[in-house]
Amino acid sequence: MAVTEPVPVALHAAHEGILRRQSLRESAARTYARSLPIVPVRARGLTIEGADGRRYLDCLSGAGTLALGHNHPVVLEAIRKVIDSGAPLHVLDLATPVKDAFTTELFATLPRQFADNARIQFCGPAGTDAVEAALKLVRTSTGRSGLLAFTGAYHGMTAGALDVSGGATDVRVTRLPFPQNYRCPFGIGGERGAELAARWTESLLDDPKGGVPTPAGMILEPVQGEGGVIPAPDDWMRRMREITAARSIPLIADEVQTGVGRTGTFWAVEHSGVVPDVMVLSKAIGGSLPLAVIVYRSELDAWQPGAHAGTFRGNQLAMAAGAATLAFVRENRLADRAATLGARMLGRLQGLAAAHSCIGDVRGRGLMIGVELVDPDAAAPDALVPPTAPALAAAVQQECLNRGLIVELGGRHSGVVRLLPPLTLTDEQAGAVLDRFADALAAAERSMHHSTDSGQSC
Ligand code: PMP
Repeated sequence: MAVTEPVPVALHAAHEGILRRQSLRESAARTYARSLPIVPVRARGLTIEGADGRRYLDCLSGAGTLALGHNHPVVLEAIRKVIDSGAPLHVLDLATPVKDAFTTELFATLPRQFADNARIQFCGPAGTDAVEAALKLVRTSTGRSGLLAFTGAYHGMTAGALDVSGGATDVRVTRLPFPQNYRCPFGIGGERGAELAARWTESLLDDPKGGVPTPAGMILEPVQGEGGVIPAPDDWMRRMREITAARSIPLIADEVQTGVGRTGTFWAVEHSGVVPDVMVLSKAIGGSLPLAVIVYRSELDAWQPGAHAGTFRGNQLAMAAGAATLAFVRENRLADRAATLGARMLGRLQGLAAAHSCIGDVRGRGLMIGVELVDPDAAAPDALVPPTAPALAAAVQQECLNRGLIVELGGRHSGVVRLLPPLTLTDEQAGAVLDRFADALAAAERSMHHSTDSGQSC
């Protein structure tokens, strides 16, 4: 079916039944399905069409996976080519021409200094699998076990990845402050706040009574995504590199969400010029299909043969789709496009913030954008910033959906509305996204006020 043809009537009728059966049969851990009760049947670029015949502008993009949007022609062509060639689809970790081409393309996009002396390990299919591999690699190569990770981090849902994520309480992980302007733990934000965060890290590592033995590695996201779209300042990134290098602590950059042009450079570490020891890559590198790898400095390659195995490490379709995506982003300079368009969208959202006191902060880098919603009336007298407003954020998400716009929530208490549009977004589409968002925000504000008013009158 082409996207221009109407969705068949039979699917309209099926819509409700499919949703009902999902809620009866799938686990209570359902995530996106709860806030986005749609049944996608077709998609192209920014647009998803539901079984109910409605069209949605998709700014969730598979949680930041779809650099080229849905079903981009170069991705489809790459997948078809593999299928038509008769190549095996399952190959464990054997060498194939498809894998060879993917690796060549990936290495061509990586910072030169890093790629020239790097090894790649194909991991299980998901980002979290690659995080596990990275943690295991640095533990094996250093012979140490502790890890440094940051407040607000998100690295996945398997045991090790959970340990280093913000919600964890594992004792082997030392939690360090991630710098942030708006809710700076030191109450000052800006360069000075980031400098204090770096000093805390340094002093903890150097204090013989700090309770932190030299760790196996430090893991960070150059822009925290699920944590609420918090870009790490470039100076702070360089400080983390210096601090870890001086103490022989491998630095792991989790670029699962920030990679492939999303933040305005091909890889987000390029903003600061930091060369990490390990990069964790997934999401967009598979061109919408599951693929996850780590790339690391070859000196760390202390693994014995078979030390990190897995059945599903050879997804040929994902490698072909991924190579096509990487090449398209590189050839069409989509990272630059993300930087320009993202800055423009941030500007427009900042304008909106000036007119709406419920927007506490607008932030982001490239096409990774967050709008933190707050409740100005609930601010404590001594608070620097108002508390986050999760109910309003949920209402905005709902009103966006009513207007045919899919957005994501993130951040502490899910109070941040996130936009992760494809890098192929046109100016016109960006305008439509922001118009719908502004309209949804106004409607959500009205409905919240209305419910507060009626609550008071009860
Ligand atoms: N790291 C980061 C930075 C992520 O954003 C995510 C997913 N949102 C992951 C790791 C985990 O990836 P996956 O969901 O594919 O396991």
